[in-house]
This record gives sequence, structure tokens and C-alpha cells, in this order.
Amino acid sequence: MTDHSLLLTLLFSAALVLGLLTKFYLASRQIRHVARHRGDVPAAFAGTISLTSHQKAADYTVTKARFGLLELVWGAAVLLGWTLLGGIDALNQALAGTGLAAYGSLVPQLALLAVFGLISGLLDLPFTLYSTFRIEERFGFNKMTFKMWLGDLLKSTLVGVVVGLPIVALILWLMGSTGSWWWLWAWGAWMAFNLLILVLYPTVIAPLFNKFQPLEDETLKTRVTALMQRCGFAAKGLFVMDGSKRSAHANAYFTGFGASKRVVFYDTLLKQLSPSEVDAVLAHELGHFKHKHIIKRIVSMFAMSLAGFALLGWLSTQVWFYTGLGVRPNLNGSNDALALLLFLLAVPVFSFFVSPLFALFSRKHEFEADAYAIAQTDGKDLQSALLKLYQDNASTLTPDPVFVKFYYSHPPASERLARMGPATGATT
Ligand SMILES: [Zn+2]
Repeated sequence: MTDHSLLLTLLFSAALVLGLLTKFYLASRQIRHVARHRGDVPAAFAGTISLTSHQKAADYTVTKARFGLLELVWGAAVLLGWTLLGGIDALNQALAGTGLAAYGSLVPQLALLAVFGLISGLLDLPFTLYSTFRIEERFGFNKMTFKMWLGDLLKSTLVGVVVGLPIVALILWLMGSTGSWWWLWAWGAWMAFNLLILVLYPTVIAPLFNKFQPLEDETLKTRVTALMQRCGFAAKGLFVMDGSKRSAHANAYFTGFGASKRVVFYDTLLKQLSPSEVDAVLAHELGHFKHKHIIKRIVSMFAMSLAGFALLGWLSTQVWFYTGLGVRPNLNGSNDALALLLFLLAVPVFSFFVSPLFALFSRKHEFEADAYAIAQTDGKDLQSALLKLYQDNASTLTPDPVFVKFYYSHPPASERLARMGPATGATT
């Protein structure tokens, strides 16, 4: 038992250190690569991207990567503090002394998770603040006032409590009362919850943070509706979201299932792109649906969480799982919340090493969606739309190829445009 415990401690530490070293190596590659290419716009973009915006993208990328390193070190220190250095254990012992156990086994467990969530949230705040009000601000992306940011924070915390607490309570209850197959029940509940969120997010949660107005521009509406019909989609609703109140970054998305299906354009997107370019961007999103990328993602999420719950079902019964991660399990009282928490903290340390695989699939899907968009609309429109979006979001045109393999969910502009054929000249 102690052997297993020591082994887990060693494995966890080794994975943490190896992960840190890998991330440092990748970030330094990215920083060097982008800085080295800062002086010249790549030949393929020479006619369309100005040196100023190329350099802005380089500076933005490097600034974010450097800040990411700081976050990385902080994140690793906090994780060690919670686990091997005894943070969770201390919190657990402190709560054990409060007499919460008198309210049943669920209350102290929820308290543990809530206090943990509160402290972790507070530990992350300086980073969110700096990123929004220093980095995004400096590059002209942030449109939020501090008051608005604080309002968002309160709202999202409240949503987290209202939405998160019941599902966590349900899972803990299932863990404690459905026997050794609890993980199968918990998995079922978790899946049902996720599907519910898919329906509730666009209709109930997102409107708490943004205004969604039906698309009013008749010309664009006719265009978009025609495109959707051509592609075999029933347009349930076309909406414009006031993304500009928070950030200058632009986007468009297609969300929901069945009756809650809707297309959402950020107002920033409509401002930056011509109608035919908006069409091309939407065709790309429809391409994701046509190729069943969304369903594939959901199914693989289902499969992975089943494996995760099964693993947790086994680990939660092993004493070394707790002691190996720096926690003394409760002798009387339930350990389910502890197991859940340790699992959620430990898994990313290991799963980082398979993340390039998921990034690879994602980039493949982007190429497929691009190909679909080109088949449905004028390829030139997608090219010029992408160029504008990459430029407006200050995405670097010269990322480090190895960094891309690890982290990029979307292929770099150069690769996407290269696949679309030789003409990279914008038409508008
Ligand atoms: Zn896409």
C-alpha cells in the first residue's frame, strides 16, 4: 500500500515536471520563432497584410506566450500546494472540525468542494485581471470596464453555483448510495447534464451576459437563409450578439440542437466582414455540422468521460490514491468529494501528453470545414474573411511549427490559405 502511494507520488511529480519542461520548451520555441520573423511579412501575405499589423500580431503573440509562462509556474505551484504539500488535506481537516457532519454526509463534502472552488478562483483572479486590463487593453482588444468585469464575475459565480451545485450534489449522492457501480450512474447523470447545458446555454445562460437580437439586415438575412437552404439547414434563428461590449475579437458560431438551433454572429464580425465574407464564414460553420464534427466531439466526450468515471470508480477505493497525492482519507465520513477533487486535479497533469492528438483532429476538422465552405461559396470570400479575422485578432502568421502541433486547434493562416489555392489576394 505504501509502495503504491510512493509510486503515485513519484509518477505525479515526474509528469508534472516533464509537463512543465515541455510547456516551457514549446513556449520558448514559439517566442523565438515569432520574434525572428517579426521584421518581415511572409511573402504570401506581402500584398495583403501591412508590416504594422504583422508586428502587432507578433508582439501580441509574444506577450501572451510570456505571460502564459508565468501562469504556468503559478499553476504548478498551486497544484503542488493543494496536493503533495498538503493544502487539500489541511482544508479537509479544518472542515472536519466545524461540525458540518451533523447535517449529513453530503453537506461537508459540498463545503469542501465549494471552499476549494472559491480559493482557486481567488488565486486565479490576478491573472485574469492582468490579462484583460493590461494585455488585451494594451493591444486595443479590451472593451470592458472594471465594473462590468466585476459584474461578469459575480454573474458567472452565481451561474456556477446554481448550475454546478446540483449536479455535483447529485454525483456525490450517486457515489455514496448506488454501490460499486456508482460510476456508471454518475456517468449517465453527467451526460444528461451536459446535454441539458447544450440546450440551456444558448437560450438561458448566454443571454445573461450578452444581448441577442434577431439579425435585421434584410440583405444579409436573405443571403444567409439562401445559403442555409442550399446546404440543407433549417434556419431556426439568426442572431447578432453584442460581443463588442467586451472585446474587439470577432467570431460566429452555430449552436444548439433541434428547436434551440441558432446561428450567432458577433456584431464585431458583421462590422469587419462584407456580406459575402460573412456567408463564407457561416458556410465554414455549417461544414462542421455537415461533417458531423459536433456529434463526433460529443460522442468522444461521452466515451472519454465513461473511461474517466470507471477509472475514478476504481481509484476512489484505493487508499494509495489519496495518500499518494498528499491527502489522508477520512476514517469516518465519506471520501467521495476528496476522490473527485484529486482526480480532477491529477488527470490534466497526465492528459497533457495526449493533447496533441486532439489538436490534430481539430485541425483536420477545420480543413474539412474550409473545404466545405469553398464548395458552397466563393473560395475568395473565405480567403479574404480569414485574412481579416486573423489580422483583426492579431493572430501571428508565423507560429512555430512544433508549438502549432501541440496547441493549435485551428491551423495557422498560412496553411489554411495554402490549401485554398494560390490566390491569397483579398477581393474586397
Ligand atoms: Zn471551424
